[in-house]
Amino acid sequence: MLRHIRHVARKVVRCSNRARSWLLAGFTSNHSDPEITRELQGENISFSLDGVNYYNHHLQTVGTREAIEGDHEGSFSLSGWALNPFTQTPPDGIIYTDPKGKVIGTAKCGIARWDIAEAFKNKDALISGWKISCDKTIPCPIEEIRFYAYIRNKNAAYLIVNWNPSVDHEAKKIEEELWLASSGLPAPDKTNPYFSCYFLEGGLFFYDQHVNICCEKNLNSPTPSDHIPLCKLDHSEFSLKKIQEKRKQVIERNQVGGYPACQGCKHLRKKNWPYRRDLFNYLNLGHDSSCNLLCKFCPSIKDHSPADTPTDEILEILRILTDGNYLAKNASVAISGGEPAMMKGLDKVIDHLNNGEYQVLVATNGTIFSQAIADSLRKGRTNIIVSVDAVNRTVYKTIKGKDFCHQVWENIKKYAEIDGTRVIPKMIIMEENAEEIEAFIQRSIESGVKSVMFDYDLNTVPDQKIIDAMKRFKKYCDDHGILGIPARPSLAEMTN
Ligand code: SF4
Ligand code: SF4
Repeated sequence: MLRHIRHVARKVVRCSNRARSWLLAGFTSNHSDPEITRELQGENISFSLDGVNYYNHHLQTVGTREAIEGDHEGSFSLSGWALNPFTQTPPDGIIYTDPKGKVIGTAKCGIARWDIAEAFKNKDALISGWKISCDKTIPCPIEEIRFYAYIRNKNAAYLIVNWNPSVDHEAKKIEEELWLASSGLPAPDKTNPYFSCYFLEGGLFFYDQHVNICCEKNLNSPTPSDHIPLCKLDHSEFSLKKIQEKRKQVIERNQVGGYPACQGCKHLRKKNWPYRRDLFNYLNLGHDSSCNLLCKFCPSIKDHSPADTPTDEILEILRILTDGNYLAKNASVAISGGEPAMMKGLDKVIDHLNNGEYQVLVATNGTIFSQAIADSLRKGRTNIIVSVDAVNRTVYKTIKGKDFCHQVWENIKKYAEIDGTRVIPKMIIMEENAEEIEAFIQRSIESGVKSVMFDYDLNTVPDQKIIDAMKRFKKYCDDHGILGIPARPSLAEMTN
């Protein structure tokens, strides 16, 4: 399950991993739309998009950015949401401009935001999330980017945020204090662009008896199977000093030739990394690899051993991170495995996390109905992805190695009875189950869930047949009023 949750969370984290789920969910963006023009009329701004003019109404904005990263050279990524406060409906899209007012591009709204729909008591607000990533270099140093939500039938564009990517001095002070308190080390100098990645900047992965920086299997590296352990996963040996020293060392090596495990990694970026108000914003608890299935695509199939690290150790470490404010208050926490429902003490871990404001995502195979997961769903603090992959019992057995098909769908139904908006059946589309797509979505609808997730087997390169099958999945969802969430943004682009 670790392998699947990692991809979802990665974007959950940036936006938010392999598990920040809908935070990770599908989005599209257009970085330079020639159809868009902008005119400045004194203080008034108008946009023309596909022949429609939009006028800004600054005071009518409701929305926010939730994560923003960027640099002065003109690349950025951010996520957030926006609504028209009067109708509580999402805008048709987002327009963003450079400091001179030139439109850089647009992004569609396309991320499922149950939290916003709940907050506004309006299910139309479900698709109000937006994500933008701009990798191109904008031909001027960015001093400010303006983000507008536009609503076509009202000819209106509402200002969401003026973003200035200059140094956040308050965050700088906080991060410097956290580095000193945790390790006695000075915080890294972030005033110039440098090579790093999202995980190096704030991720912690608990697995294989260690705290690791990431769980990336970087095939371009000279040591592809090497992880980057930071310290032992044992609270008596858990050391923030060791963790911070190692992170610093890896980042420094990445500026001069590259740390071996990071060489050629697709996550490495040279940019202005922002100062932070925490040390970590993504945690993956995959310390227990015990599992009762034998999925054909599972990377840890040979190692389904119970945790060597008892839950009490994990709780002690969590307490160190949370009590010292080292973990961001809204951090994404993915519980993977193995199979989390087999994890001893899962209830204690979830209870601890539910006491904070963390975004908790459990990636389960659904074979065991877990009271701890059910209770957490009831509290409205946890989302679960159920990796089920099939509807037909024979197909299930071929893919998952055991005969739990009926049980898993029964459990999905039971979880959905608690909160169908937080339960997402997932299908890894492959040759064996491609003919089951429609049946899978139908069964999900009948089970009472509101969204389903799709992916392809990451051990393979998807051929046209698989890409077409994913498009079919997405279209069938659109046609049947259920949200089809790509496990990773690259899938959204692939299936559009
Ligand atoms: S065998 Fe278990 S851990 Fe591996 S992918 Fe399947 S459900 Fe996940
Ligand atoms: S750059 Fe290094 S730390 Fe970051 S994901 Fe790749 S291998 Fe992991």
